[in-house]
Amino acid sequence: MSDYDVQLMAQKQLREAAQYLDLDEGLIEVLARPKRSLVVNFPVLMDSGEVEVFEGYRVQHNQSRGPTKGGIRFHPDVDLGETTALSMWMTWKCAVVNIPYGGAKGGVKCNVKELSQRELEKLTRRFATEIGIVIGDHADIPAPDIGTNAKVMGWIMDTYSMQAGYTVPGVVTGKPIELGGSEGRVEATGRGVIVCAQEACHNANLNFEGSEIVVQGFGNVGSVAARLAEQQGAKVIAISDTSGAIYNKNGLPIQELYDKYSGVEGGIQNYKDCDKISNEELLALKCDILIPAAIQAQITDKNADAVQAKIVVEGANGPTTLEADKILHDKGILVVPDILANAGGVVCSYFEWVQDLQNFFWEEDQVNDRLSRVMKNAYGPVAHTMREHNTDMRTAAMIIGVKRVAEATVMRGIFP
Ligand code: NAD
Repeated sequence: MSDYDVQLMAQKQLREAAQYLDLDEGLIEVLARPKRSLVVNFPVLMDSGEVEVFEGYRVQHNQSRGPTKGGIRFHPDVDLGETTALSMWMTWKCAVVNIPYGGAKGGVKCNVKELSQRELEKLTRRFATEIGIVIGDHADIPAPDIGTNAKVMGWIMDTYSMQAGYTVPGVVTGKPIELGGSEGRVEATGRGVIVCAQEACHNANLNFEGSEIVVQGFGNVGSVAARLAEQQGAKVIAISDTSGAIYNKNGLPIQELYDKYSGVEGGIQNYKDCDKISNEELLALKCDILIPAAIQAQITDKNADAVQAKIVVEGANGPTTLEADKILHDKGILVVPDILANAGGVVCSYFEWVQDLQNFFWEEDQVNDRLSRVMKNAYGPVAHTMREHNTDMRTAAMIIGVKRVAEATVMRGIFP
């Protein structure tokens, strides 16, 4: 899909949600475009002694509800169209979970696998300086995304602070704990996924305890979701990673798999007491809850009909294609959409920012309790809107997100 298409898709989704809200055409036009887009080209002196010029972006979609927030992606496919679409989705995501941010996104077109640590640091610091004119702890707060991590966030924080002349920890989130990061941040997305799964079970009169769960992807989101599900009495019957999937209808020992098998040569495939199945077979397993937590476009028009789960909770971004969404809806399968289900990460980023601004840090239990509360408070209105408009849950989440942003935009009025 070209960059133009992703942006069009984000605008189409906005228009679909707007139909339920009777929004003025002028207002839709405002919401369909980013408030500010910055394109930067900057040189980096490579280890070889040669100069390479990189292109980077920071797009701020909407500031009506507060400063903008969104990740920074280092990837060869990053471009302005994709960054713009991602910034729009961040706006709706922050509004759905009702945290006081608008959406933003940024990135640099580069291949991190080809950069030395020294080159990566130089690229990060120069990019941070270039976008330093639009980011800030009260303006726009980046976070990690594909190709970036806590270490990169630490460099951005340090670079920004060097130019401010004092330490500004709140300028980015997802930092190491030692630099003002938050307890609970690493687990936050998976934790939010499980809160959504529990709420969905509750609404469907299903017991989460004893329920059968299948998790695709055993990385950050998937492994945390699977471990928390096990801790809370659910039976995780299958998991997968790029090496394939493993299945045991009596349940897998998730914590043991995480401690002993993930991250080592051969990975979860070394575990013996299970059947080895393919990722396709995993998606088609009979279960109560399916959690796709790997990559985008995994449930498509080709395999959606085979899905036998009662509930799908999207841990990954965009794991279900638009065609598959419709097939699952027609089959009566509830899909808890990504903009709600995986919002735990940005909620905890919000907590990190609040702690940084106050220079007052919370204990892990406080972070986790507050995260659960925010996720539950977000889930309720989306479920209500779904019933009210008789839609699927993705449309309902978009209606809530767009409605909150539209209301704030109208209330603030047009300057001057
Ligand atoms: P990760 O790289 O830690 O884990 C990804 C996992 O998926 C790995 O176990 C990998 O082996 C597996 N995988 C990759 N391709 C696969 C395939 N085709 N079939 C089966 N397994 C496959 O990534 P993550 O941080 O856990 O992110 C997972 C998804 O969640 C992404 O879509 C990401 O955008 C989304 N997400 C992550 C966060 C976060 O806080 N980490 C927040 C919001 C959304």
